[in-house]
Amino acid sequence: MTADGPSADGPRADPPGPNPLDHGPVLLLAGARLADGRVVDVRISGDRIQAVGTAGSLGPLKALPGGPTVTHGARIDLAGYLLLPAPAEAHGHYDAAFTAALPAAPAEGGPDLVRRITEAALTSLGYGATAQRTHVRIGDAHGPARLEAVLAARQALRGLADLQAVAMPRLLTGLAGADGRAQLREALRLGADAAGGCPELDPDPVGYVQVLLEAAGEADCPVDLHCSGAEPARLARMAAALAPLRPRVVLGPCSALGPGGAAVLADAGVRVVCLPQSGGCIGTPGPPIGLRPGTVRELAQARVPLAAGGGALRDPSAAVGRADPLEAAFLLAAGGGLGPESAYDAVSNQARAALGLPPVRVDAGFPAELLAVRGDSLAGALAGGHSRLVVHSGRVVSRTSAVREFADTVTLALPRQSGPA
Ligand SMILES: [Zn+2]
Repeated sequence: MTADGPSADGPRADPPGPNPLDHGPVLLLAGARLADGRVVDVRISGDRIQAVGTAGSLGPLKALPGGPTVTHGARIDLAGYLLLPAPAEAHGHYDAAFTAALPAAPAEGGPDLVRRITEAALTSLGYGATAQRTHVRIGDAHGPARLEAVLAARQALRGLADLQAVAMPRLLTGLAGADGRAQLREALRLGADAAGGCPELDPDPVGYVQVLLEAAGEADCPVDLHCSGAEPARLARMAAALAPLRPRVVLGPCSALGPGGAAVLADAGVRVVCLPQSGGCIGTPGPPIGLRPGTVRELAQARVPLAAGGGALRDPSAAVGRADPLEAAFLLAAGGGLGPESAYDAVSNQARAALGLPPVRVDAGFPAELLAVRGDSLAGALAGGHSRLVVHSGRVVSRTSAVREFADTVTLALPRQSGPA
C-alpha cells in the first residue's frame, strides 16, 4: 500500500516497485463519455474534479520520461468508457465474507479475519465502490473482536477506499440486554461509525430502538438498522421512535415490506437500503426471502430515498453473493422497478447519502470519486461493463481489464468484436 493521497505536498516516498497506477497530483481522464452522452476531458487535482471540458480541450498533459510512473501528472485515455460518479457499497457483512465455502467456523478475530475483511473491501473496490459500509456483530461471545478486525482493515485500506463500520448488538433491552448496552457504548468509543443491529431480534423492538438512539445521540453518530418491514404496525412504532435522529437514519433491507409500509417509511423520513441480490443478509432472521416484487416500485412511488447494497459476499446467507454495485443496479432495472438512471443513482449517490457522504457529479468542484466502465451508455454499462477504472480521492486505485477473444472459425458480416469487454 503506498502512502498518502495525491494532495500531499513535497517529495513522495519511492514505492517498492513501479506501480502503473501511481501518478502525481494531477490526473487527466481524456475522451470519456458521460451518462448524458457528452464526450469530455476531466482534469482532477488533489481529491477534487478541477475542470470538465469538451474532449481535447484540457490537454495535452505530457507524461514525463521514465515510463508509466510520472511525478507531475498522468493522462489516461478513456475512449470507449463511460465515466460515472463512483458507486458505494451501502450494506456489507465483510466479517462473514467468503465463509460459505470454509470447511470449519472461521476465527472470531485476529489476522485471518482482518485479511478476509480487507479482501472483501478490495473486491468491492475493484467493482468501483470507493466508499463502503459493513455491519459487524458485537457482544455475545465475540465481544469487540470482530469490530476491532474491521477497524484494523479500515486503517489498512486508507487511501484506497473509505470503510465504515456499523456496530450490531443482538439484544439491548431488559436484563439480557445489559451486555449489549455496554458493548454498544464500547464499540462507539472504539470508533464504530454507526449504531445498528436488528430490533426484530429483541423481545422489545421499540425499546431496542430507544436504547440505540440514546447511545447514538451520546456518540453523535448515525443509525443503520436491519428491518424486514413485515408488520406495518410495528414498523410504524419503530419509525416513530427513530424520528428524533432523522435524517441520520437508515433502514434495510425491508424485503418483506407489507401494505402501507412504503408510506410509513416516507412519513418517517428514513432512507432505505434494499438488497436486490437476495433480499436478505446474515443480519436478518431466517434465510433470505428475495425482494418482494413491487417493493422497489412502491418505495420509489412513495418517494422514499432508496439505495441498494450487496448484502452478502459468499457468506452463509448467499453462497453465490457478489459485491458488484452495477449488478445491484442491474437487478433494480431488470426487474422493472427503476430505469437505468435511477437504478444507478441508487447504488451511487443515494448509497453515498446513506453513508452520510456528499454527492458526486462529474463536474468541477465535486469529489474525485469516479468509476469509468466500458460502455457507451448507462444501460450498456449495466448490461455488462467488465473493464473498469476506479478513482478514489483523485487517485486511480484499481483497474480491471477484460479481454474477450473468439476463435477465428466463423466469418460473419459483422464489425470486428475483439477488444476490451
Ligand atoms: Zn445486513
